[in-house]
Amino acid sequence: MSYYGSIEAGGTKFVCAVADEELSIIERISIPTTLPEETLAQVFEFFDRYELKGLGVGSFGPIDVNEQSETYGYITSTPKNGWRNTDLLGLLKERYALPIAWTTDVNAAAYGEMHLGAGRNTQNCLYLTVGTGVGGGAVVQGSILHGFSHPEMGHISVTRHPEDSFESTCPYHDHCLEGLAAGPALEKRTGVKGQLLEADHIVWDVEAFYLAQALMNYTLILSPEKIILGGGVMKQTHLLEKIRQSLEEQLGGYVTLPDDYIVGCGLGDNSGTIGCLLLAKEGA
Ligand code: ADP
Ligand code: ZN
Repeated sequence: MSYYGSIEAGGTKFVCAVADEELSIIERISIPTTLPEETLAQVFEFFDRYELKGLGVGSFGPIDVNEQSETYGYITSTPKNGWRNTDLLGLLKERYALPIAWTTDVNAAAYGEMHLGAGRNTQNCLYLTVGTGVGGGAVVQGSILHGFSHPEMGHISVTRHPEDSFESTCPYHDHCLEGLAAGPALEKRTGVKGQLLEADHIVWDVEAFYLAQALMNYTLILSPEKIILGGGVMKQTHLLEKIRQSLEEQLGGYVTLPDDYIVGCGLGDNSGTIGCLLLAKEGA
């Protein structure tokens, strides 16, 4: 019997899984992201025990997804120690002579959610994670959206909340979404980690304002059928309603949104893994 493999390559951990033909997960492991050779040795140890027919990889980025490029398959300009310009796909291909699908972690999650999660019965959906960073992926007419590169939805400019003078945490931009609204920005602004902030803290209104502003832009540009929000910060379930309200306000009635437009993940923490497995199966 042969299997499909999934690698969710994150900046903190690599989550690897193996699944059967029905995409039922047989085994899963979480490996700390240390240095490439160290982390990959454990990844190989895990997959070597299986006969695989396809592998799907959703990676933290930025990554090169342009098949015409010399550095296709590389993790490129990441600040993550040891991982800059790492040919991750090449190293995997060297080890496994298999079809290997390659995209971003958030594109994989968008794909998983569209097929089997909150985006079921749609062909166009957007997934945004709000965690250590902010990242987004999109599926457009059933296909993952890649261009000369992949979208970088976390770094769009947002207009500042009138009462917010917080300095952006993004080293590149002084008013991008990630710099003003990712978990570390919340923590720096309040002095407390997001998970410890009360639901009635004023900062959640500011947070909802920024996220809704970004969702308004994505909505106007891509018109997805659904927007799915994940990541640690979205564990604050009260935030969803605040975002919905702020989005309606900011849109000012110009666009009528579908019912249940802004939702949480349908696959819990498995969106990325399921997406990678689907991609593995399609590529095999
Ligand atoms: P990563 O982005 O590294 O994959 P997470 O999605 O868990 O991991 O994001 C981690 C960030 O989310 C941290 O900044 C953390 O403080 C914040 N976070 C985690 N859980 C919660 C929570 N329940 N409420 C608010 N913020 C949270
Ligand atoms: Zn930025």
